[in-house]
Amino acid sequence: MADYDVDLFVIGAGSGGVRAARIAAGYGARVAIAEEYRIGGTCVVRGCVPKKLYVYASRFADEFEDAAGFGWSVPEPTFSWERLVAAKEAEVTRLSGIYEANLLKAGVAIHKQRAVVTGDHAVRLADGTEVTAGVILIAAGGGATRGDFPGAELTISSSEAFDLPEFPRRIVVNGGGYIAIEFAGIFAGLGVDVTLIHRGDKLLRGFDEDVRDEVAEGLKKRGVTLLLEDEIAEVAAVDGAKRVTTKAGVTLDVDQVMLAIGRAPLTVDLGLDATRVMRDRHGAIMVDASSCTNVPSIYAVGDVTDRLNLTPVAIREGHAFADTVFGHKPTAVDYTNVATAVFATPEVGVVGLTEAQAREKFGEVDIYKTRFRAMKATLSGRDEKVLMKIVVDAATDRVLGVHVVGEAAAEMIQLAAVAVKMGATKADFDDTVALHPSAAEELVTLR
Ligand code: NDP
Repeated sequence: MADYDVDLFVIGAGSGGVRAARIAAGYGARVAIAEEYRIGGTCVVRGCVPKKLYVYASRFADEFEDAAGFGWSVPEPTFSWERLVAAKEAEVTRLSGIYEANLLKAGVAIHKQRAVVTGDHAVRLADGTEVTAGVILIAAGGGATRGDFPGAELTISSSEAFDLPEFPRRIVVNGGGYIAIEFAGIFAGLGVDVTLIHRGDKLLRGFDEDVRDEVAEGLKKRGVTLLLEDEIAEVAAVDGAKRVTTKAGVTLDVDQVMLAIGRAPLTVDLGLDATRVMRDRHGAIMVDASSCTNVPSIYAVGDVTDRLNLTPVAIREGHAFADTVFGHKPTAVDYTNVATAVFATPEVGVVGLTEAQAREKFGEVDIYKTRFRAMKATLSGRDEKVLMKIVVDAATDRVLGVHVVGEAAAEMIQLAAVAVKMGATKADFDDTVALHPSAAEELVTLR
């Protein structure tokens, strides 16, 4: 690859791109990376990390309420959005700095500007510099889908929601997926009047039916108004508010309207037309199992390929790419039994198949299910439940899916995923002695 300026040029310094750049550099490759916004990408800057910080912030309301049940007297708590935003910003800046320092330590050249592809081995930076590369890796990520109704320009996405200059008193959140539900929980916990509008009859399509019911129940208990089987028809600016009119004829005056109706791969204006790189009808870059496009020198990882759009998966893809191409160790990513969490309140953690998927694939399945009040909520009297469900293949006793809704669901499911990944049977779960008192012990005592 000596004839090129660099061996690898990475477009996008998010989770997948940064991992690929660092690992490739570790194998001795000459690597450059371009980022038009902030090093760290969606997850660090305007996704998982700030979202989780805001989820923590939103749950203190419950803590203050619970405290009284445990003998504490808590003065009327007050909340400052400005202080939360500033604290979040400081943490995101710190993490972004660590990402940058790690890239530099690995010897990666960083270009803080946009880069576009101009050929199979060439990119052009925003300042006009042309760089040639033996391999180009596209890790440009995804962006929020915009609405196509009148007044859509008055709405925001989750990206803007993190830094609203004014804290909203009333908000409409549109969508029924991860982001909509997480933000509905965040704003409700912070005391905002939240209305969630979703076109489907249930939230979280693709999740187990019991999980979907439990989450809807939990959001309602938290004060979120659910408008299901409805869609935004129009948003208009009226008397300093945003007036939302739905297709079913509901009218709401709110301070903000946040759309969370999916994300799409950011492949427009990337210069791909200068190559033969194939994209699917949603614009996602099509790749093979080693993340290679139909052009042998161009690879893509992460949300831009629209495979399994989760940060740890993008990191795996970036790492596997670098191992394969620069470490000469062909490595494939295993997409089975990837645990996932929705940081809603109540929180969701799942791994493996839903009951419906398991029945379709395996026929007869055994279902173990429990729903109980969390111990912490007993003294305070708060009406908070935990749901646990295990889906088992009746023929082999193998655990096919574990579903948890409630406090610490994400923490529990990460560990349950190890067992499921290893092919644990229900008997293996039963053989495991419970840890008492914990919520997780129910996973090994379900009969
Ligand atoms: P999702 O794909 O999860 O959900 C999109 C939601 O919007 C669905 O409820 C969908 O309804 C609805 N929708 C789609 N199009 C329209 C439309 N035109 N009008 C009205 N409603 C519409 O997308 P998100 O934006 O929530 O998140 C994007 C992705 O980011 C997730 O899929 C996930 O991969 C990732 N993510 C992961 C997180 C985590 O791991 N905790 C957190 C946040 C994001 P329907 O169901 O009917 O299609």
